[in-house]
Amino acid sequence: MSQPYHHYEVVSQLVEKAAAAMHLDPQVKELLREPVRTLTVSVPVKMDNGTVKVFQGFRCQHNDVLGPFKGGIRFHPEADEDEVKALAALMTYKCSVVGLPFGGAKGGVLCDPSELSTAELERLSRGFIRAIAPIIGPDRDIPAPDINTNAKTMGWFVDEYAQIQGAYRPGIVTGKPLALGGSKGRTEATGRGVMYVVREAARAFGLDLEGATVAIQGFGNVGSYTAKNLHDLGCKIIAIADIFGGVYNPDGIDPYPLKEYEQETRSVKGFSDTNPISNEELLALECDILIPAALGNQITKENAANVRSKWIVEAANGPTTPEADVILSQKGIFVVPDILANAGGVTASYFEWVQNNYNYYWPEEEIDNRLEQVMTQAFWEVYGAYKEKDITLRIAAYIVALGRLEEAMRARGWVV
Ligand code: NAD
Repeated sequence: MSQPYHHYEVVSQLVEKAAAAMHLDPQVKELLREPVRTLTVSVPVKMDNGTVKVFQGFRCQHNDVLGPFKGGIRFHPEADEDEVKALAALMTYKCSVVGLPFGGAKGGVLCDPSELSTAELERLSRGFIRAIAPIIGPDRDIPAPDINTNAKTMGWFVDEYAQIQGAYRPGIVTGKPLALGGSKGRTEATGRGVMYVVREAARAFGLDLEGATVAIQGFGNVGSYTAKNLHDLGCKIIAIADIFGGVYNPDGIDPYPLKEYEQETRSVKGFSDTNPISNEELLALECDILIPAALGNQITKENAANVRSKWIVEAANGPTTPEADVILSQKGIFVVPDILANAGGVTASYFEWVQNNYNYYWPEEEIDNRLEQVMTQAFWEVYGAYKEKDITLRIAAYIVALGRLEEAMRARGWVV
């Protein structure tokens, strides 16, 4: 999928706003201002035609006061240092808001995976892990999949790291295949976490979810599991779109047969008993809950005024631009921010890492119960901060995250 776009400056401005609202110790802000380190690497790869090509990559470690750094690695032709820094910082705040003992990191390799053979991709993946091996480790920094990387890539990472260490350490990455110590329930976790947050928000704000109308942009991992979970909760999914187009039925769409159809045809387009709808129309639909679950920067100053949902729940990372956020707030649309709404993914990654450390594996039911507990508690903590002050839920989430970071910094003696 194509690239969401984040700027470090945008995240810094959110931190600035939350810090002002909570009177954060300026030393804490100073410690969070720049990432701890960003390693830039050049990875030589022997291509199938015998030539050598050098790929540039980054690993940014933003802050580790709460625990080892944690964050995905993306392969993308437009991966750049500023975006990797922004995403690393988002991970610091996301892990903190849900109370995980992890810091924030992110990695990127500048490449177009569609132009590489599987063998070239494997050599690049192994080369990148060799290049960043000095700064990662199961107790230092734990990568995971992101755009254009997946369980298969994680398998290569685990194997290469085992060869470097001379010891098998599955806790070096999460998002692994089950055969290598991956966790049950990881694939479904982000969408399931979105559902728990919606369920709790409905309790807090008095929305009856039975028959509540939902429109979802994106029907990949996050969008489809969000749709299925909300459908099971009694919501009416009235529109779903993917990169090729969308489908609409005011009486509701069953996401289960829709997923089967999408897997056969590669798109939701043309599903029975639905009318076509464009992505732009979907974002402007009158409904209770609009869920962007595809890309960053979808709700912008150009289209925010057209949004007619009561809520936006940010399953994607960074789907709302700062300018759009202001417009939505003026319109009284309530936005559940990404660092809270989609934190179910990293929470399940944490469970995977814990199981790897124990070398003992939990049944899916246990993972789901623990996920429910983490997401529910995180929602109410954020809601508590929101109720206390005249702020948005996004700033409330940053306040909770910053509060926890501050406490840990004091406990470690980083600030007095
Ligand atoms: P995915 O690749 O599985 O699915 C992406 C979906 O978005 C697909 O249905 C695709 O067709 C659609 N899409 C792409 N471009 C589009 C466009 N221009 N208009 C409409 N739809 C478009 O990705 P995913 O894992 O579901 O991730 C979706 C979002 O959630 C991303 O922002 C990602 O960063 C975020 N996220 C994912 C996870 C996770 O565990 N997968 C965790 C946290 C956050």
